Parts: sequence; structure tokens; C-alpha cells
Amino acid sequence: MSILVLGSGQLARMMSLAAAPLGVEVQAVDVSNHKVVDPVTKLVSNHSLDTMLQEVDAVTAEFEHVPEDLLAKMHASGKLKPSAEAILTGADRVREKKLLEKLDIANCPFEIITDIEQLDAAVEKLGEQLIIKASRDGYDGYGQWRMQDKSELAGLKQTLSALDLKKVPLIVEKMLRFERELSLVAVRNTKGQLAYYPLAENLHYQGQLHVSIAPATNVNDALNQQAQQVFNKLAESLDYVGVLAVEFFQIGDTLLVNEIAPRVHNSGHWTQQGADTCQFENHIRAVRGLPLGSTKVTSPTAMINIIGCSSFSREMLSIPGCHLHWYGKTPREKRKMGHFNLVADSYAELALSINELSKHVPLEYFPMLKDEAERLAKL
Ligand code: ATP
Ligand code: MG
Repeated sequence: MSILVLGSGQLARMMSLAAAPLGVEVQAVDVSNHKVVDPVTKLVSNHSLDTMLQEVDAVTAEFEHVPEDLLAKMHASGKLKPSAEAILTGADRVREKKLLEKLDIANCPFEIITDIEQLDAAVEKLGEQLIIKASRDGYDGYGQWRMQDKSELAGLKQTLSALDLKKVPLIVEKMLRFERELSLVAVRNTKGQLAYYPLAENLHYQGQLHVSIAPATNVNDALNQQAQQVFNKLAESLDYVGVLAVEFFQIGDTLLVNEIAPRVHNSGHWTQQGADTCQFENHIRAVRGLPLGSTKVTSPTAMINIIGCSSFSREMLSIPGCHLHWYGKTPREKRKMGHFNLVADSYAELALSINELSKHVPLEYFPMLKDEAERLAKL
């Protein structure tokens, strides 16, 4: 049994590591040069992409920004899961917003603009506090511009006028004042079987995910069900196969969708140590047509991203329940280099572990740890 992953980064690597015990071999495609590589060793295969495509049982993707010609080729093979439509929906905020509207799923108020002169009307409609997002190729907060008040409008128009909005329209969103960010990671297999992880609470800093706490605290059944219904609608409409993540903003008892990711997701990395079956294994099971594994939580978990930082001692591994996942990438500012999963028997113990961890890492790269430990300790 073998699976080909479009993209050869850390998500393909973690899929491969989770697939090995099932006897499923994972190969990856470097989408920049179409070479086939082992996502763990990074060794380039002797096989061409075409040969590999014939041999594998299924093709999947670790990210949605797959070049269109490559995606079309994979679609034509009949082996791509999730479908090209699902991947394109995650890659293009215009398609995504249209699908959310079609399915009547609550999301953030927005306007689509294809000409910079339409920005004034969008400001009139949505108010002066806005987030403007490129409809394609954005991630980790890249391709986004924020406006706090109208005095910034002229400058923004100047900046944005350099873009080709006919080719890549902008989504202008109202800047929401939400209580917190939650995400649902769930999975559907080729036979339509469904499994959901509990909602995770996500802490962002400068538009980038830093910490996920799972299960999120103070979540009642109604909130989990609201999230699961959104997943069900999306999964059914896209005839979805694999893991799909839905990012939400919580306002009172309501969840508004921020965006969807048709793949394994950073806010699901906690499942590697905190759930019976991790998201990577379940994704492999789903696309390979196997029964899904239990998503039961085994421990409250904190997933802590290691961003832009490469040098620290590994002494934190003495903390009980501390696991390091290091991706082996070249360091760059704001680049995700790896993550920690901390597991504990209670949120109070998790708070203690987070405090312990913060003694071992350069805190300027981990700006959320102190406050989060304090919050969890008070629960
Ligand atoms: P990622 O790859 O980390 O998911 P992204 O580049 O795809 O990020 P978004 O998820 O749309 O972009 O936005 C990043 C973060 O910016 C959100 O998680 C949230 O913290 C903030 N944000 C985005 N849209 C809004 C909004 N309309 N109102 C308030 N905050 C927002
Ligand atoms: Mg996001």
C-alpha cells in the first residue's frame, strides 16, 4: 500500500511517520520541481512522478496551494483525495466564501473586490476596521493587510494598487471582536464514516498560530455540535475524503467560520500525543479506505509551535509528558521549525508544564506561554 503526497514539508513527513505502522508507504512530490522524495529522509526517488502516480493507491495533499497543472494531472489520475474541487476551495478565498454562503454557514462579513476603487464602498459597508486578504497564496498571516481607521485608507490603496486584482481578487473582511479562536479537526473516509476531534483553542500572535490547547476549555455539547454540523455540511457538499480543519471565531454562543483547510492542520498536531489516533494516521486511513481510528482524547494537551528559533538545549525533554517534533528545516524568521506537545493529567498540571517549558526556551520566540499558563492555572 502506498500514498503520494503533494508537498514534501513537515505535514507529509508526519503523515509518513504515522502511516508506517499501518504498512502504508508515503512518498512526497516537491511541487516546485515535480521530483519524488521520501518526506522523512528527503532522498530523491529514482522513480519519476508519472511512474509513481501509476503505482500508488491514492494521492493526497499537505497544502492547498498546489500549482494548477499538477493538480489537474492528479485529478485526471482518479486517485486524488480529497478532490481537486475541495483543494481548490481551500486555496481560493473567493471559492471558499461562495461555498460558505451557498451552504448558509455563518462566517465573517466580507466584500470581494476586483478593483482597488471598490475599497471605499467596502469600507462604507463593513466599517473602518478591516482585514484585507489576498484570495490566493496566503498563509500564516502573509498576504494580509489591516486597517484600523480611515486615515490609513489612502496608503492602503496605494500599496494594494500594485496588485493585479482581476487575477487575484481581495477579500475585505470586517475586523471582528471575537472572544476566542477555536478549530475543529475532523475526518471522513471513502465510505462516508465520520470522526471528530474535540474543538481546540488556538492562540495567534501577529496572525500566526502559536499555541493550541485541546480540548478547548469551557466548551459545551451545543458548541461542539454546532462545529460538527458545519463540518458535516462541508464534507457532504464536497464529498470530502480525509482530514478537514475548520477555523472558527467564537462570539457568545455562536461560531463564525474564519477559513477551512482541506488537509491535516497545525491545530490538530496535539492529537499525536493527546488522542487515541492522531490526525495524520486518520488522514491516511481515510484516503486509503480503511476504518477510522478512535478520536478519543487521552490527555489535555498543549501544542506549542517553535517559530523562527533553532537553538535551544533539549533539556525540556525531562519534563514529564513533553514531546518534541522537530522538522529539520533551515531556520528563517517566522518559519515553523517544529512543535512541542505537552500532555498532562489536568489543565492545572498542564499549566505547570508550560511554566517549566518556558524556563528552557528563548521566551522572545514564545510570547504566549506565560499568560496561557496563568489562565490554565486559574481554571
Ligand atoms: P493560517 O495559515 O495561520 O491559518 P492565514 O494566513 O490563512 O493563517 P487567516 O486564518 O485568515 O489567515 O488569518 C490569520 C489570523 O488573523 C486569524 O487566525 C485571526 O487571528 C486573525 N484574523 C483573520 N481574520 C480576521 C477577522 N476578520 N477579524 C479579526 N481577526 C482576524
Ligand atoms: Mg487561518
